[in-house]
Amino acid sequence: MKILVSVKRVVDFNIKVHVKSDGTGVDIANVKMSMNPFDEIAVEEAVRLKEAGVATEVVVVSVGVAQAQETLRTALALGADRAILVESHHGVEPLAVAKILKALVDKEQPQLVMLGKQAIDGDSNQTGQMLAALAGLPQATFACKVMIADGKAIVAREVDGGAQTLSLKLPAVVTTDLRLNEPRHVTLPNIMKAKKKPFETLKPEDLGVDVTPRLKTLKVAEPPKRVAGIKVADVKTLVDKLTTEAKVF
Ligand code: AMP
Repeated sequence: MKILVSVKRVVDFNIKVHVKSDGTGVDIANVKMSMNPFDEIAVEEAVRLKEAGVATEVVVVSVGVAQAQETLRTALALGADRAILVESHHGVEPLAVAKILKALVDKEQPQLVMLGKQAIDGDSNQTGQMLAALAGLPQATFACKVMIADGKAIVAREVDGGAQTLSLKLPAVVTTDLRLNEPRHVTLPNIMKAKKKPFETLKPEDLGVDVTPRLKTLKVAEPPKRVAGIKVADVKTLVDKLTTEAKVF
């Protein structure tokens, strides 16, 4: 069974980003970039399925600028077998990414496609769903457990206050949630080994996809600054202030 996993290069989750002074976006110049955390979970799950003898090949794909190559190398060091970079000089919107992934699904014929539930930069939560629709595949979003048996994926999904378990006929699309697993760390010997693994670079045109942006960002703004709190002497003053000033009662 072949698994296709998509990995996006995003600003590292530890970095506090700042909005550019002209409000056109977030300043990412000289900022640490890493693999989208939900994609790390997807790679880990695919590698575990391979280690368990369920999968035979894990192919990782990224759509983005040339530096996304580093993200793919990390995925190879985590245990993926082969990487595909679909190179674009600018950011690619979720619909175009979904179209690229659909073209790769047609070409590679994976039994399982794994994506993160969300990229932490754009917070779109769209790509997996759009890919499933374009490819006509069953999908399970927000997966917290994945089991493969008898040509089916049994997927537990995070829902409000619990989990919903679905059975999907393969091939299928699964998007990962935080509790699915805890990704391993990359080791130096594996980084060295990853350098020898197959790496293909394509252009969106090679897959017949037009990535011209359709959306225009009008404005990006910082959240309003929180005002400093105050200390009150006793509960009575607190209740008075909540009633007369904050008007929460
Ligand atoms: P989004 O719909 O943008 O929140 O992204 C959801 C998931 O789609 C991510 O976790 C990735 O697995 C995948 N994805 C989105 N954009 C890209 C990209 N440029 N390259 C590779 N995978 C992507």
